[in-house]
Amino acid sequence: MVDLIPSPDTVMQILKRTGAFREGHFVYPNGKHSPYYFQMPLAFRYYDTARVLAVALSRKFRVDRDISSQLPKVAVISPSSGGIPVAFGVRDALNAEQIYWAEQENGKRMFRQYINQGEVNPCIIVDDIIRSGSATEETAELVKALGSRVLGCGAIVKFTSADDSLEDTPIKSLVEFDVQMFDSGDECSDCKKDAPIEHVRF
Ligand SMILES: [Zn+2]
Repeated sequence: MVDLIPSPDTVMQILKRTGAFREGHFVYPNGKHSPYYFQMPLAFRYYDTARVLAVALSRKFRVDRDISSQLPKVAVISPSSGGIPVAFGVRDALNAEQIYWAEQENGKRMFRQYINQGEVNPCIIVDDIIRSGSATEETAELVKALGSRVLGCGAIVKFTSADDSLEDTPIKSLVEFDVQMFDSGDECSDCKKDAPIEHVRF
C-alpha cells in the first residue's frame, strides 16, 4: 500500500501540468513577492487527478494505527473551501463516516450552524495546502470546542515554513515546499530584473 504513494517529484509534475503550481513573479495580498504560486483547485478540477492526490494522502493516514483502529467512526474535516475536494477524496479512500468543512464568516473560521456538541467523530483535518498552518490550528480549536479530538492532519502541499506538527500530531503531506518569499520588491530578484508582476488574491 505505502509504495503507491507518488513521490514528491511526481506530485509536483501533476501540480505543474494542471496549472496548480505556477512559476513567475507574484505579489501576495500581504505585499510579499515570490517566484512561486500554488492555485490548488486547478489540480482538483480534474476528477482523476483529484483522486490520485487524495488517495495518496489517505494512505499516509491509513498506516497510522490510532486512525485505522477508529475507522469508520472518523470525521474528515476541511478548514476551508479549498480542502473540501481533498476531504471528500480522503473520506472515500478511508471509508470514514463523516465530513465537515469550516468557512470564514466575518473573518472568523466557523462550522455551519446546528453542528452540536458530541456529534463530531474523532477527526482528520485535511487541506489542499498548508501555508502558515493557522487554518489547521483554528479548525483544531473548533473541533475541540465541540468535544472531539484530532487524530491526524495533513495536506497535499505543505510549506516548510509551517510547523511540522499540530500540538503533538505530525502534519502529513505529499510535498514539502520551500517557498521563497521576499518581504518587499526591494529584496525581490524578479523586481531587479523588471519582470512583469502578477497580483494574486491569497
Ligand atoms: Zn518582485
